Amino acid sequence: MPYRQETNIVGSNEIIFLRVIISILGAVFLYIGIPWIHKQSLRLLLKRKTRKFKCFALTFDDGMSFHNGPGAKLTTAVLDILAQYNVKATFFLVGRHITGREEVVTRIKADGHEIGVHGYEHLNYWKVSPFRALSDIKRGSEVVNEILRTSRVAYPFRPPYGKLNLLCLLYLWICRVPIVYWTFDLGDTWPADKRDSQRIVAMAKECDGAVVLAHDFDRIDESANQMVLESVSGILAQADKRAMPLLTVSQLLKGHKQ
Ligand SMILES: [Zn+2]
Repeated sequence: MPYRQETNIVGSNEIIFLRVIISILGAVFLYIGIPWIHKQSLRLLLKRKTRKFKCFALTFDDGMSFHNGPGAKLTTAVLDILAQYNVKATFFLVGRHITGREEVVTRIKADGHEIGVHGYEHLNYWKVSPFRALSDIKRGSEVVNEILRTSRVAYPFRPPYGKLNLLCLLYLWICRVPIVYWTFDLGDTWPADKRDSQRIVAMAKECDGAVVLAHDFDRIDESANQMVLESVSGILAQADKRAMPLLTVSQLLKGHKQ
């Protein structure tokens, strides 16, 4: 009898343990898994749209940031190349890096490019509290509004690190903010031996279109900055040759041709 009682206690402990594990897995699935599945579906949608319109959408993240170097040299150089080809792109700005670089933001706008928001502190929304993540999204838009003297809420939003949690996803959905991922990574943040502007030119020669992710923050490693410029020039030259339009993300999402 004592042996049976012991077996029952062990059995019920196992069931409680299993229930806890299942609850944790369920919570993780809801909090991270649903936004992840949503991300994959949005990326498929972008792929379909770029193929349909046979176009490129160039997107630049993290411009003017202090990650590895000061200033906005690369952003300015990118703007010069875009002006040379007379095409428009989308810049996803990190709010806290704007201060002191307001004139670059106003140039982005004045040159006719689209401005998107990339959070205020560039946080990983899977690692911080949902409320901190939410306030990061709101603050990012507020800073852009202050600079541009507007009061818009629905700037296209690119989640930092491409990661959203469920609460942020719901907030963006309720505010009708377009969430924008990418279909092709330029690879400019990869290790030096993996960065290859020839790979980018080959892609631009053959593919039916792409939403390209690039980063326009200055780096101490000049070869990375150079790689971005060569790749962007390469894509634009190929797009020009193949008569493929360059769209902003909003034009692409609305289905407008340039
Ligand atoms: Zn980023």
